Amino acid sequence: MPIDATLPYDDDNIFAKILRGEIPSKKVYEDDHAYAFHDINPQAPHHILVIPKGRYVSWDDFSVKASDTEIAGFVRAVGKVARDAGFVEPGYRLLANTGPDSHQEVPHLHVHIFAGKPLGPMLT
Ligand code: C5P
Repeated sequence: MPIDATLPYDDDNIFAKILRGEIPSKKVYEDDHAYAFHDINPQAPHHILVIPKGRYVSWDDFSVKASDTEIAGFVRAVGKVARDAGFVEPGYRLLANTGPDSHQEVPHLHVHIFAGKPLGPMLT
């Protein structure tokens, strides 16, 4: 179900549990600002999620509350994950669902990276 992204951060959300190691995930990358893992239900041949280590409900929450250091670290991590995976030359797509109309389901900011085939026109 889509979440209410205006609610305060919920420390029991599933990605918070993944960050704390309470739920397993297939790790791709980790640094001070970000953690990346394979999506459990891939929507493309390659489907990676990148999440910030900080407690941010959504892209909107992150853009308002995160420090410049956190934002720079997270953006660089997303780029590094895609680059290290070899996605730059064939191309890839980033997606960050934000709020109920977007169908955001997990209330911890996550950027989807899709790659591995021609992805076609943008989703609507
Ligand atoms: O953007 P949205 O919130 O809809 O995406 C949530 C994503 O988290 C889904 O693609 C889902 O497959 C993924 N997920 C996951 N591991 C979990 C729970 C959800 O990869 N344990």
